[in-house]
Amino acid sequence: MSTNINAEEQPDLSALANLANQFFKALPGQQIKTDPVVGQAHEPVRQDALVESYEPWLYDQGLRNNSFDHSPPSASGVGVSPSAANQNNAVDLRNPQTSFADPNLAGPKPADSVQLPFQEDEPFETRLKEILNNVRVSSPAVRIPFDQDTDAPYYFLKNRNGVLNPKNIFDRDASRVGQPIAPPFDVNLVRNDFPILRERVNGRPLIWLDNAATTQKPQQVIDRISYFYQHENSNIHRAAHQLAARATDAYEGAREKVRAFINAASVNEIIFVRGATEAINLVAKSWSEQNLNAGDEIIVSHLEHHANIVPWQQLAAKKGLKIKVIPVDDDGQILLDEYAKLLGPKTKLVAFTQVSNALGTVTPASRITELAHQAGAKVLIDGAQSVSHMKVDVRALDADWFVFSGHKVFGPTGIGVVYGKEALLNETQPWQGGGNMISDVTFEYTQYHKAPSRFEAGTGNIADAVGLGAAIDYVSRIGIENISRYEHYLLIYATRLLKEVPGIRLIGTAPDKASVLSFVLAGYKTEEIGAALNKEGIAVRSGHHCAQPILRRFGVESTVRPSLAFYNTRAEIDTLVNILHRLKK
Ligand code: PLP
Repeated sequence: MSTNINAEEQPDLSALANLANQFFKALPGQQIKTDPVVGQAHEPVRQDALVESYEPWLYDQGLRNNSFDHSPPSASGVGVSPSAANQNNAVDLRNPQTSFADPNLAGPKPADSVQLPFQEDEPFETRLKEILNNVRVSSPAVRIPFDQDTDAPYYFLKNRNGVLNPKNIFDRDASRVGQPIAPPFDVNLVRNDFPILRERVNGRPLIWLDNAATTQKPQQVIDRISYFYQHENSNIHRAAHQLAARATDAYEGAREKVRAFINAASVNEIIFVRGATEAINLVAKSWSEQNLNAGDEIIVSHLEHHANIVPWQQLAAKKGLKIKVIPVDDDGQILLDEYAKLLGPKTKLVAFTQVSNALGTVTPASRITELAHQAGAKVLIDGAQSVSHMKVDVRALDADWFVFSGHKVFGPTGIGVVYGKEALLNETQPWQGGGNMISDVTFEYTQYHKAPSRFEAGTGNIADAVGLGAAIDYVSRIGIENISRYEHYLLIYATRLLKEVPGIRLIGTAPDKASVLSFVLAGYKTEEIGAALNKEGIAVRSGHHCAQPILRRFGVESTVRPSLAFYNTRAEIDTLVNILHRLKK
């Protein structure tokens, strides 16, 4: 079998699997995994299917041991949960799991351009990865269309006096201003990992520009969830049997991945919930309800999603609290001076978004937090729109709580995270009661576990937590800084082109933005534009984006909102903009 596949052709995994299948087909007596759609475009081949395709050849090469045990190892490689291992596989029901150090989870793994799903490396897998890596090539350097390519830099790279601000250039690294860079990953190879991007909509290739609503899932996440149900499924924490250990191991492994991803100090600070909405409700209905009293004040920003407004309004109505709002300027930037004026002895909580879902504004989160703490208030940061676009470090931010949804960071729906400082979480009484969160129950009283268990009553979304862990692995492998840089470049590119569409008005023109391009187009209702784009296979959101107050601040009830992720391309943006030009004709 030759592995000298022409690097110029950049074969994808399915092509490689096909090649392997053809080869094995030619061997006498081999059992073949044939493609059901012979002669037609091949469906993507799962990577573990690829391993199976290679298997006979691997035997030949002596790379795979015939006595290889096909029973799956657990996610973090031991087959026993960290908790079970620490307790000789006899989980102590009075003190189950969560905070044991698991050596299998320590430290990030080296980046691989090809990932085999979730097994620890067998010797043959290491070899196979080498083979697959050899056929992966990076794309030719793409020059950022900055000052060499354009007459004028983009308006939002300038500060308010019209002076170019080097900090706003794509990688925020002044030393690289104006230099061409190569994207550090090949967007076409990355796209191969997302099967849904091969869908056609209305006869056209799908162009997914609705990433602020939800992101698409790489095959690695899809496979990981499927693997969980095939090999690990059990309830967690409560039994000493093998599958309970595997499931617990996988679930707690995911918690550790989240911890590392946002740089929390401990896994005990990571609570799994349904999503950002439930996360904010948890803080509103536990700590806030327990600690705020009539007359106390909560500050939110004008940029907030309804999820970070309504729970505070509900609480304010119940307890007689006052809600104050940080205003924004005409670009959609937080007015820090005005914010400082709102702070006072009655301020008990500041809750704000790190990135606006409607405008894309990146808020000065560290400064907002610092000022709140100086006033003695606690801080909740809504990271629903930030974690997929920029490096988040909760310790550097010093947030008391930080929340996000898994589905916006390439993970499954129905899973999200509350990060909270450990001492604060342990001082707070749970908001829901039930199994899993107690250490002792009589009919007279209940003793709760410490965090995170005290906030995870009942059976949680185990499989999707594990899927979120796989999504975090995926993002980490590409590198969140690389993602941030590439998306910033796309945002600059798209903004420049959109500005040239006659009659367009961009809503949200802050210098520091992520992902989102909100606009209205004279002569068209936003839903008409959404429908016209849909006809061409382009998915964008048109509406109020669950952020009515900020849209009304700009005098509109709705906008069209393309939003970018790292798998989007310049070609997709070109298509979007061409259609808008066509509409105007
Ligand atoms: N916060 C922001 C900024 C959002 O954009 C969203 C969803 O769009 C949410 C909170 C709510 O997230 P979820 O619906 O996943 O709970």
